[in-house]
Amino acid sequence: FVKSSVIEGTKLEEDSDQEDADEKDMLKRELQDERKTLPIYKFRDELLKAVEEFQVIVIVGETGSGKTTQIPQYLHEAGYTAKGKVACTQPRRVAAMSVAARVSQEMGVKLGHEVGYSIRFEDCTSEKTLIKYMTDGMLLREFLGEPDLASYSVVMVDEAHERTLSTDILFGLVKDISRFRPDLKLLISSATLDAEKFSDYFDSAPIFKIPGRRYPVEVHYTKAPEADYIDAAIVTVLQIHVTQSPGDILVFLTGQEEIETIDEILKHRTRGLGTKIAELLICPIYANLPTELQAKIFEPTPEGARKVVLATNIAETSLTIDGIKYVVDPGFCKIKSYNPRTGMESLLINPISKASANQRAGRSGRTGPGKCFRLYTSYNYMHDLEDNTVPEIQRTNLANVVLTLKSLGIHDLVNFDFMDPPPSEALLKALEQLFALSALNSRGELTKTGRRMAEFPLDPMLSKMIVASEKYKCSDEAISIACMLSVGNSIFYRPKDKQVHADNARLNFHTGNVGDHIALLNVYNSWRETDYSTQWCYENYIQVRSMKRARDIRDQLEGLMERVEIEISSNASDLDAIKKAITSGFFHHSARLQKNGSYRTVKNPQTVFIHPSSGLAQVLPRWTIYHELVLTTKEYMRQVTELKPDWLVEIAPHYYQLKDVDDAGSKKLPKGEGRAAL
Ligand code: ADP
Ligand code: MG
Repeated sequence: FVKSSVIEGTKLEEDSDQEDADEKDMLKRELQDERKTLPIYKFRDELLKAVEEFQVIVIVGETGSGKTTQIPQYLHEAGYTAKGKVACTQPRRVAAMSVAARVSQEMGVKLGHEVGYSIRFEDCTSEKTLIKYMTDGMLLREFLGEPDLASYSVVMVDEAHERTLSTDILFGLVKDISRFRPDLKLLISSATLDAEKFSDYFDSAPIFKIPGRRYPVEVHYTKAPEADYIDAAIVTVLQIHVTQSPGDILVFLTGQEEIETIDEILKHRTRGLGTKIAELLICPIYANLPTELQAKIFEPTPEGARKVVLATNIAETSLTIDGIKYVVDPGFCKIKSYNPRTGMESLLINPISKASANQRAGRSGRTGPGKCFRLYTSYNYMHDLEDNTVPEIQRTNLANVVLTLKSLGIHDLVNFDFMDPPPSEALLKALEQLFALSALNSRGELTKTGRRMAEFPLDPMLSKMIVASEKYKCSDEAISIACMLSVGNSIFYRPKDKQVHADNARLNFHTGNVGDHIALLNVYNSWRETDYSTQWCYENYIQVRSMKRARDIRDQLEGLMERVEIEISSNASDLDAIKKAITSGFFHHSARLQKNGSYRTVKNPQTVFIHPSSGLAQVLPRWTIYHELVLTTKEYMRQVTELKPDWLVEIAPHYYQLKDVDDAGSKKLPKGEGRAAL
């Protein structure tokens, strides 16, 4: 009996393995058939011929025509991967991951083997990888280790129309290497029709157009401007659900918070609709959504139900969701803007461009006639929306990119081959900032500190904090703080029914008004002491997922510390040393308390406030240093630590003089001014 049951057991296992394999095979066959139905399929051979003939091609095709998922596979099938990897860049992390997952399924291989992806702090590739999806920022970093991209045979810069900062810089770099690597193929692909500009830039490269199938889309406008677009979006979704024929809905929102709010309200309101109305499945999608949940938007909608996808801009061109028939477009997106004069960067909710509005509408007409409900008036559309979004390079802080270019040996930034050059003021500001951080010397050359900083895939201020921690013997603490800051604002968890408990738990980490940076460090260290316990996270209202991510990031930072030869040393009891390391990176971000409880930034004076979530919000120290500014109802400093003003002069003597930090100065009127007023 014993023996036979063992055999039985083994056999059973074999069976299920076989079943698994069968299932995979079936899925692969199904997907292979599906591949042939995509608009790009008819042009497969023609496209491959063009790639053979020309070194650079600009490819234009409607979203969903199969550019991102198919072209790298065609190149693989045609043998390009035998000569080197095929890279395909994406402006967004989620797109890189999701598309890689899809393509590995289509090819019937394990994700991370032949098909992989690489995004910041997450490398899902191996020796075997032939097709590599990656963020544009990651390919930019690869130039640091491999300036001629020797291990690649093809680079496809996808979603070129998005014109992210990294994509724009990549343009210049790949154009340059294509001159001395005639074997390297470049594909520049875009979802919009203004391909001439790309073609002109790449020395009149041929344009390959993939005619899309597009069904008519009926566009509806509101009669009057909406006072509250969140509320208007909810009402519109419910109206579509109750009055319109079957078909899924896609709503464009500006970010995670908005999506979560609408998710909750929609769940609440549909509960009362009764059984006569079909079920409404709500699927959110945004960058920080856990991967398992991201896959949900691609699952087919069950018979009789309707799906509503609540998405950020990611669904505009990066991801195609089948079955969408209705689009709700409030007309806004979050956009970064930068004031080179003050050096202030902010993320603001802004009206979208006409180009975006048209892309969004197009998402409803992919598989049949669609409808787009714009929550603004046709007058707004005609007169208030810009034609195109300004490229990121013209509205962002360039310090990071300048540091990367300098470490690639590109010194003459003014004459770099930009498709659209950044404002010279912004370029200057970046050089100034890097000089103040001691990353560049007075001749604009990279220093040893700068070379070390460039190794870290972080904002220069954070990398400087880490590099400076060597001096203060607190590198262990510095990388823990850096990894916690890199996770973003999703460490603490505050359920509606347990807010008091959650707030108390949070305050425990702030004992002694140590400031938010040290509080984050306390969270990380306490978790580490429990051997990374999940239970501990629950008890302290800490998000386990965020902590695990922080640990992953920390592991990588620790690896990079070895590369730049900084020993890991802990100086946990000397909080001032840790704060000085923070100040070494963030001295630009200093602020001084005013009489009315507001703060004034020290250089480029501006009124700011301590964010209510800060442990110092009630303490109001005289001098602070902050991680970032966020504008909501007011301009808030987020992640704040108390500072001794002499540190500014000690640490950044070329940036601060004694008069800047003279404590008396804010109270008394300087003599001259007093007399003038009389
Ligand atoms: P393009 O890049 O031209 O916009 P894609 O190659 O991204 O087009 O998409 C082609 C098809 O593959 C679409 O029908 C899309 O629905 C499907 N697809 C892409 N990614 C996924 C995914 N992660 N899961 C399921 N289907 C996907
Ligand atoms: Mg695509």
